[in-house]
Amino acid sequence: MAKVFQMADASNLVTELRRNFDAGVTRGYEWRVTQLKKLLVICDKREPEIVSALHDDLGKPELESSVYEVALVRNSIKLARKQLKEWMAPDKTSLTMFPASAKIVSEPLGVVLVISAWNYPLMLSIDPVIGAISSGNAVVLKPSELAPASSSLLAKLLEQYLDPCAVRVVEGAVTETTLLLEQKWDKIFYTGSSRIGRIIMTAAAKHLTPVSLELGGKSPVVIDSDTNLKAYNIGQMGLQQWAGVHFSRLHPDNKEYAPKVIDSLKQELEAFYGNNPMESRDMSRIVNLNHFDRQSKMLEEKEVFDKIVYGGQKNRDKLKISPTLLLDVPLDSLIMSEEIFGPLLPILTLNNLEECFDVIHSRPKPLAAYLFTRNNKLKKRFTKTVSAGGIVVNDTAVHFTLPTLPFGGVGESGIGSYHGKFSFDAFSHNKSVLFKSFLGDSAIRYPPYSRGKLRV
Ligand code: NAD
Repeated sequence: MAKVFQMADASNLVTELRRNFDAGVTRGYEWRVTQLKKLLVICDKREPEIVSALHDDLGKPELESSVYEVALVRNSIKLARKQLKEWMAPDKTSLTMFPASAKIVSEPLGVVLVISAWNYPLMLSIDPVIGAISSGNAVVLKPSELAPASSSLLAKLLEQYLDPCAVRVVEGAVTETTLLLEQKWDKIFYTGSSRIGRIIMTAAAKHLTPVSLELGGKSPVVIDSDTNLKAYNIGQMGLQQWAGVHFSRLHPDNKEYAPKVIDSLKQELEAFYGNNPMESRDMSRIVNLNHFDRQSKMLEEKEVFDKIVYGGQKNRDKLKISPTLLLDVPLDSLIMSEEIFGPLLPILTLNNLEECFDVIHSRPKPLAAYLFTRNNKLKKRFTKTVSAGGIVVNDTAVHFTLPTLPFGGVGESGIGSYHGKFSFDAFSHNKSVLFKSFLGDSAIRYPPYSRGKLRV
């Protein structure tokens, strides 16, 4: 039987890692780059096991796991390896105090905790770990217990390949995470729901620990009638991967346009999964019974159930719900109020763009907002007025894959950001360092200040 993780284990773990951090184990370029290389070996040599764990946990098709998890993580590692020297180099600042010199030095924060979610178990765990290692921290990863095969594989692989002096995995659920949160960390990087995000931030406040919170929310997709429906797989990601950034609101520009949008989506979904999506091997399953029941409840509300225009099949034993489109559900329904995180897409027809902006502005700031249009004026207005973690025009979710863009939320959808150099920055402190010369110091800075007594 596995040993129960207790308070003493959590406290000893942090003490040990802090001792190693203080001894300078993680600070040098060589250590950092060696760990990154090892992470790359994991991606290159152990991909089949990773793909199989993701299939066990989420029923993810192989190609989806290879492309959206392993390949993205591989790219992040390669970028960090390539740019690490540059990221670590101090920034020289202007010499306004000549003959003094000054620079900004990126220093590691210390011993950091990464807590991740289940929907992209590899990427959401390893991407922050890349940032933590690149910036020279000791790191503890707590993967999600809702993806148990991935969690135990991550624990096994990181233990096997990475330096145990400074990189550890703790598996577990609420009890274990709570014990970890009792400890003093130098940074907590959390991906998950806004509800638990509040628990994380409260625990961090006790030690004045900085946090990055990568949270969720209801990300709107606005479809202007001046768009090319054929060219876009609107909502594809959210429908295809139950737990991707999901697109829970869709606002066609006017009443006549809605049926065209729905037809186009139906065609697209049939091309993805055929006439019987419940049997399609390309469709992932819902992660567990809780999430299945939560989404079923959304569909079972009478005024919502009546609005299903496509899909709606469920199989509780197989944890599958077919991609489901709903038209004009009430704004105060569960499906429009709570995060869906599944293959359900409520579509609202709105009379005009003003109404559309009103709905968006009346809700918490989302992780992402999407617009489909050819209209340049509208693109400008949307990007200027809609507040969201990120905005994509004429596609969905692709901003996630660009390391030159910071990925993170705003307001209810999160605090801080990461990816590429932003991950390095998320785990670094910008230390101001000034070197003064003994030359040129002036006694005028010191008392006595009264006229006639000044020492020049
Ligand atoms: P969750 O908040 O339930 O769990 C996330 C992590 O928190 C897990 O590791 C879990 O063990 C831990 N946790 C759960 N309850 C806890 C408690 N009481 N105290 C301490 N720790 C606790 O989230 P989830 O269900 O794994 O993931 C889904 C959520 O994550 C959605 O809200 C989604 O929007 C969000 N998400 C955000 C991003 C992003 O990049 N911003 C990416 C993926 C998922």
